[in-house]
Amino acid sequence: MSAHTIDHKVAIIGGGNAGISLAARLRRAGMTDIGIIEPAETHYYQPLWTLVGGGRAPAAESARSEASVMPQGVGWIKDRAEGVDPDAQTVSTSSGTTIHYDHLVVCPGIQLDWDSLPGMAESIDTPQVSSNYRYDLAPKTWQMIQKMRSGTAVFTMPSGPIKCAGAPQKIAYLAADYWREQGVLDAIRVVLVLPTPGMFGVPVFAEELERVVARYGIEVRKNSEVTAVDPDGRSVTITDNAAGVSEELPYDLLHVVPRQSAPDWIKASPIADPENPAGYVQIDKNTLRHSRFDNIFALGDAGSSPNSKTGAAIRKQAPVVAENLQASIAGRPLTAQYGGYASCPLTTSRKTMLLAEFDYTMQPAPSIPLIDTTHERRDMWFLKRRGLPALYWNAILTGRA
Ligand SMILES: Cc1cc2nc3c(=O)[nH]c(=O)nc-3n(C[C@H](O)[C@H](O)[C@H](O)COP(=O)(O)OP(=O)(O)OC[C@H]3O[C@@H](n4cnc5c(N)ncnc54)[C@H](O)[C@@H]3O)c2cc1C
Repeated sequence: MSAHTIDHKVAIIGGGNAGISLAARLRRAGMTDIGIIEPAETHYYQPLWTLVGGGRAPAAESARSEASVMPQGVGWIKDRAEGVDPDAQTVSTSSGTTIHYDHLVVCPGIQLDWDSLPGMAESIDTPQVSSNYRYDLAPKTWQMIQKMRSGTAVFTMPSGPIKCAGAPQKIAYLAADYWREQGVLDAIRVVLVLPTPGMFGVPVFAEELERVVARYGIEVRKNSEVTAVDPDGRSVTITDNAAGVSEELPYDLLHVVPRQSAPDWIKASPIADPENPAGYVQIDKNTLRHSRFDNIFALGDAGSSPNSKTGAAIRKQAPVVAENLQASIAGRPLTAQYGGYASCPLTTSRKTMLLAEFDYTMQPAPSIPLIDTTHERRDMWFLKRRGLPALYWNAILTGRA
């Protein structure tokens, strides 16, 4: 692509869950002159990767061509954003193109920091280590789980915000339930390493998860984090941050989740939150507008709003950004407010799910009438396996839900 300038009334960085669902909403509201900057040819429904790793869904079902989800009438700029100049109202890209905008929405997702721990990046190429946080690796998780008949299996969660904070423990339950079915669970020591003081931030869900780990006999290391991986010696260093002690633990299977942060180019840009080293786009947590630049919004995993980083949060954020963006263009006050809703469908076995829904108050915020979703349920499994993927492809990405 040669260096040139493109002009759009609204430019959106990232055509993932957030960018596509927002653009579809804006198109349905009749807006024209929208451009999406997105380099990838494939769009992923990442929540399915947990089920892929647990042997409950094929990986290919989570991928569709980006072209097939791009809303009609939106200009697709197949390029990678590299910088934002809020004063000049431009985005620069890796091909040297400059995109001039009247309004900008920033949603390039979160960055997986594989190199943040010694040994983790190298370990991923060894036969005993995998991560559901990558499309290409989730099938490997399932192969490893199937092969395991005895030994020590370690499942890790890093400190700091990550996308879908429940995913590091969901795969532990899917694996333990499979080993139980196979009659080998008693021969496997399952260790779950969590940086948090409890199983979950909302007490009612934490209590249910305590029952789940007790059922499988999972050893939970709370307030703890893996601080190094030794792929040659097949061991991890687990640091207990409360007690200030570290321990070496040999593994036969290791499921790792890397620390995560804003993309490096966002961290280095003027739109990042200067107070927060994680570098997310600094936005008002309710209006989702930039705290310093009135014509910039952000949503999804790249925003600084302190919600749980999930697709479920985006389902509530996209209508707020769509409405406030239109108000901003028309010079009206912003009236739409996001209350921090997020949900985490916790797969507690190969056929049950606990739907944890909550908001900024960290109180349960159930959205399904008549049924008690504070306990793991069989009907919720079908929501996770069939209902939510269908909702995503057919209604969320088309701006209907
Ligand atoms: C294993 C796993 C399980 C999950 N489970 C759940 C779940 O059960 N429920 C739930 O609600 N959420 C879940 N999530 C989280 C959910 O997938 C994310 O929160 C959601 O995809 C975030 O949407 P986003 O648009 O912010 O980022 P993404 O969907 O990641 O999209 C970001 C887009 O930006 C593009 N991009 C990146 N850099 C640039 C750049 N420089 N310029 C232009 N474009 C760029 C990328 O190619 C990508 O298309 C899970 C995630 C994982 C990994």
